[in-house]
Amino acid sequence: MTEEDRYLKLRRKMIRQQIADRGVRDPRVLEAMLRVPRHLFVPEEIRYRAYDDCPLPIGEGQTISQPYMVAWMTELLELRGTERVLEIGTGSGYQAAVLCELAGEVYSIELHPRLAREAEGRLRALGYANFSIRAGDGTLGWPEKAPFDGIMVTAGSPSVPQPLLEQLAEGGRLVIPVGSTGMQMLTLVRRKENRFLTTEEGSCIFVPLVGKHGWKRDARY
Ligand code: SAH
Repeated sequence: MTEEDRYLKLRRKMIRQQIADRGVRDPRVLEAMLRVPRHLFVPEEIRYRAYDDCPLPIGEGQTISQPYMVAWMTELLELRGTERVLEIGTGSGYQAAVLCELAGEVYSIELHPRLAREAEGRLRALGYANFSIRAGDGTLGWPEKAPFDGIMVTAGSPSVPQPLLEQLAEGGRLVIPVGSTGMQMLTLVRRKENRFLTTEEGSCIFVPLVGKHGWKRDARY
């Protein structure tokens, strides 16, 4: 068995045991996560743990999210293939790759320039062409590319940044962890006739969203 076959087997098991059995059933999400080689998004020395049921360190004190969390948040965006999507917190680029599989165009913003650069290289090497990544403060959104049919924030915020609400298209969906730095509520906001309908989907734990409309850089959490 080749190394790639071994990883594919691990990926099938991850999807069955960690994701489908826990209630994420959207076949498009499951298929996308079967295609994306998660082991190429983690540092080489922990590659063997890429399909474990947990987040993993990726440098700069940041993490690649747990596979289940990626699946859950992606399912909440209800993507059908043509959407324009914004992600805040590129990190390793793994979530962005899953979004590239499921949406028309993906825009992703990462605070740390090194992580942004590395994620961009990974996605290009894998052949993705429907994305742009930039380094900067994602709490300001990406106004030149707005409006977005889907916005996903993959870091924990004290509240929903106003610019992201403004950049959400009519009928669009925004998923964001909102709460303290220790624990957040995964929050779904839907824009309907210029009203914002908010539902709480369940608790989660993310690294802090640091920026103008997030946590302050020097704050003591
Ligand atoms: N989605 C990532 C995991 C994200 S971890 C993946 O698939 O690997 C959260 C990321 O958010 C970290 O890389 C962190 O640097 C970044 N981040 C924190 N505050 C940010 C901000 N204001 N704008 C953009 N990125 C931010």
